[in-house]
Amino acid sequence: VTIIVQKFGGTSVGTVERIRNVVKRVIEEKIQGNDVVVVVSAMGKTTDDLVTKAKQLSDNPSKREMDMLLSTGEQVTISLLTMALQQSGYEAISFTGWQAGIYTEEIPGNARITKVKKESIKAAFESGKIVVVAGFQGISPSGTITTLGRGGSDTTAVALAASLEAERCDIYTDVTGVYTSDPRVVDGARKLSSISYDEMLELANLGAGVLHPRAVEFAKNYQVPLIVRSSMSTEEGTRIEEVITVEQNLIVRGIAFEGEITRMTVVGLESQLTSLSSIFTTLADNQVNVDIIIQSQTDENKTNLSFSVKTEDLNSTVRVLVANQSYLGFERLEYESKLAKVSIVGSGMISNPGVAANMFRVLAEDEIQVKMVSTSEIKVSAVIDQEKMEQAANVLHKAFRLNLEVLPVSQS
Ligand code: ADP
Ligand code: ASP
Ligand code: MG
Repeated sequence: VTIIVQKFGGTSVGTVERIRNVVKRVIEEKIQGNDVVVVVSAMGKTTDDLVTKAKQLSDNPSKREMDMLLSTGEQVTISLLTMALQQSGYEAISFTGWQAGIYTEEIPGNARITKVKKESIKAAFESGKIVVVAGFQGISPSGTITTLGRGGSDTTAVALAASLEAERCDIYTDVTGVYTSDPRVVDGARKLSSISYDEMLELANLGAGVLHPRAVEFAKNYQVPLIVRSSMSTEEGTRIEEVITVEQNLIVRGIAFEGEITRMTVVGLESQLTSLSSIFTTLADNQVNVDIIIQSQTDENKTNLSFSVKTEDLNSTVRVLVANQSYLGFERLEYESKLAKVSIVGSGMISNPGVAANMFRVLAEDEIQVKMVSTSEIKVSAVIDQEKMEQAANVLHKAFRLNLEVLPVSQS
């Protein structure tokens, strides 16, 4: 029997009516003779609302209790969807993360899945049941409920698909597929019929919220065919796969952006062989993720070191550095918040050295100042003022002609 994994995000299960719509989508797969696993998110904005409540009661809520709290959202959806399936005459059973065999690291709030034990799901299949699984949660070695990071239900779905060797993992969401950029922000954003795992991974890592980056990582590592499509329409979605056919001649495939970035500068750092490694080891040991790094030598003995972090990590970054100031050997810290990162992504860039130059020219023409830069074989990122983020995404989208339909390359 073929196994299909379907995942429905928050908007897609946001109301009782929408849950009835999901029932239809699940039954369509079941009546074709497939075994079906359905992974769901919390209803609508539930997770955001829970976060708000926690912040009203505590300045710095404990991570364990946050996981306990946030994991409840998905549990509401699994039980309601399962009841609705049963009401329609189908046998179904709901599983929390741990009941579905999702094991994670001991890291609260952002745990990675380490192992999937598929026995309980297999047993439910044996008795003909549709299995409904709570996304975004698992269980740690100490038996604590963990969550996988915001947007992590995608990762639950792909990890189950990989483990069960599913034929496909369908991600049902509130847009019709993966677009050249966020269609809610960028005018003329166009749906891609397919995109490679690597390009999708870059877009997801650089802020395109449509897929959780770890979901794409799993899909690539286990070669899970992944489709992003709308739960509200039957329109064909976007395939994420190894080889892409039609549009591979495009240099830039998509534009991603993310706000709430801060640039930290460590001023007057003593230039010793070990200075950099000490700083970044100290930050890493304290779970601070650093993104773009720039070092500039000011004189023989001193350097200034700038790096970007998520603004939500600003307080912990400052705390960690100040606590270790004499050991690390620097004069003072400076920082600038309200920054954003805008990135152009495309595997065709490897062989096109002019792409970055083009990007900077376009930004300069729009008087958008670039404060930090980072490049890889398939992306260029620029840190700019947050208030210019949407403008930058729009002008770059147009400049790289992403709004235009690309015709298939002729074979002759
Ligand atoms: P779900 O709740 O279904 O997981 P998300 O809100 O996590 O949905 O992801 C879908 C959203 O991702 C869309 O509504 C869209 O605004 C945003 N998005 C950002 N970048 C892209 C992109 N390149 N293509 C499609 N959607 C994108
Ligand atoms: N409910 C979680 C969130 O809002 C997980 C998810 O939807 O994927 O982040
Ligand atoms: Mg999501």
